[in-house]
Amino acid sequence: MKIGVLALQGDFERHRRALARVRAGEPVESVEVRKTVELRDLDGLIIPGGESTTLLKLMEYFGFWPALDAFHREGKPIFGTCAGLILVARDVENPPQPSLGLIDVGVERNAYGRQRESFEARGDADLDGPTSLEMVFIRAPRIRRVGPGVSVLARHKDEPVMAREGSVLVATFHPELTDDPTVHTYFCAMAQRSRRPR
Ligand code: GLN
Repeated sequence: MKIGVLALQGDFERHRRALARVRAGEPVESVEVRKTVELRDLDGLIIPGGESTTLLKLMEYFGFWPALDAFHREGKPIFGTCAGLILVARDVENPPQPSLGLIDVGVERNAYGRQRESFEARGDADLDGPTSLEMVFIRAPRIRRVGPGVSVLARHKDEPVMAREGSVLVATFHPELTDDPTVHTYFCAMAQRSRRPR
């Protein structure tokens, strides 16, 4: 199985290391994606954290907007973390900016105020079974609205911090910054399932 990590800007190297820790299912190969043609033979794509406005500009420049739309329409899984979530969300505020709208959530950027800009916490998740996750938040967005077709998979203090709608998975925190491979294992299982004929 081949998972791409969008490598235009941000935290892509740590996602590759996290993918290398996934042990369940098929062996996982990870590749850095800088050109749209590199999406062609992937089974899933991770859009990492970073600075969403910069990422947005680079994605526009390199033609990723229509390419990711097509990737999504093929049913290929996409996982957006932090800035990656901001890019795939339906609505973005603080300030508003264009986004791909691949998952029906509304997000507010940099929504934790100054003192709590970056922090670690534990939260509860249900990823094919209940679990507790260590969560690293870095100038994180908050999910302010969850559409009816969206499942909340993890919460921190009752607030949604991880969600899924079909083939699109998002998290406001950075699972690639802990040693726990649970979240990446879950995404790889999504990618594996999406390949099977129904
Ligand atoms: N604050 C960033 C933004 O709004 C996201 C931060 C991150 O990805 N760690 O784009």
